[in-house]
Amino acid sequence: MSRSLRFSEKWFRRGLWLIAVVFANFLIGLGGLVVGDLPKVESPVRIEDFIDARQAEAARAAIRQQTRRLKEGEDARARAQLVFEAARNQTQGERDTFANWLATRKVTAQAAQDAELVKRTQALDALKAAERRAEVAVEKLDQANLAARQAQEQAQIRLAELERAAEKQWRDAQQQLELRVFLVRLAFTLPLLALAGWLFVRHRRGKYWPFVWGFIFFALFAFFIELVPYLPSYGGYVRYLVGIVLTLVGGHYAIGALQRYLDRQKAAEALSEAERRQEISYEVAHERLNKGICPGCERPVDLKDGTRNFCMHCGIGLFRPCPACGVRANAFARYCHACGADMTATGHTHAA
Ligand SMILES: [Zn+2]
Ligand SMILES: [Zn+2]
Repeated sequence: MSRSLRFSEKWFRRGLWLIAVVFANFLIGLGGLVVGDLPKVESPVRIEDFIDARQAEAARAAIRQQTRRLKEGEDARARAQLVFEAARNQTQGERDTFANWLATRKVTAQAAQDAELVKRTQALDALKAAERRAEVAVEKLDQANLAARQAQEQAQIRLAELERAAEKQWRDAQQQLELRVFLVRLAFTLPLLALAGWLFVRHRRGKYWPFVWGFIFFALFAFFIELVPYLPSYGGYVRYLVGIVLTLVGGHYAIGALQRYLDRQKAAEALSEAERRQEISYEVAHERLNKGICPGCERPVDLKDGTRNFCMHCGIGLFRPCPACGVRANAFARYCHACGADMTATGHTHAA
């Protein structure tokens, strides 16, 4: 990935970066599909799988049966209650009539009425007995309903106990499943990341760099973003730990690179002017000059001042007379801008 001043080459390079991004995009899409299909390897676990099916079914059947019984019992009780209330009202009415009749009888005190008294008392007793029977029927239904309710509650408790007993096993199984899914995903994405690291170190400047960079983008995305929804509760640790390790490695590399750059720069400044000039590539020299910095030491220089021919920081020649016509020409030029003579022919770069 050497730099270039050529217009078309710049645009080719931009196009190749676009290819890197597009390549990464398609890889991410494909990776997403593959990862999305992975959980189908494992079937989800249900709490049902850990409950004794026969006992659970028995408890459920009991609940259904008792619920039906209770419903029927409550309907029957409501009907019996109506019967009882009717009987009670009838008794009450009869008792009032009898009391009135008794009061009149005391006033007249006719002996002929004794038979009537007996008959009326008997009728009232019969009504009282019927009322009592209706009341007993209601009480019996109350008892039956209470028994049904208790049986229903017991069946519910039994089912809850079965579920509670199975819950721990179920949770353990679920956690294991999550762990397996996570490890499968990790087994896919971690080697991608390792391969991306190797490609970065070895081939990032190679001829096929757009594909290398596309793959690196894809691997980073797959590991740090696509893995996230599948992380178990502790999965964040994996992500952050790998992130920390990568940052440390990257930081170490960058610090080393800075140190190497400074050492190289120092060593270069110790060389002779001609040797230094040879070290700097044509493209790099002109790119730096365009930015107003010295091609040798990368410090700012004033190129517009017509009297300055050397860098005041490192002493490298910036302008020199053309060997053919003597005009003040760029010391890094291949050909004189005034006469077109080959500037590199003499090899010597001493300004007058
Ligand atoms: Zn300089
Ligand atoms: Zn010339």
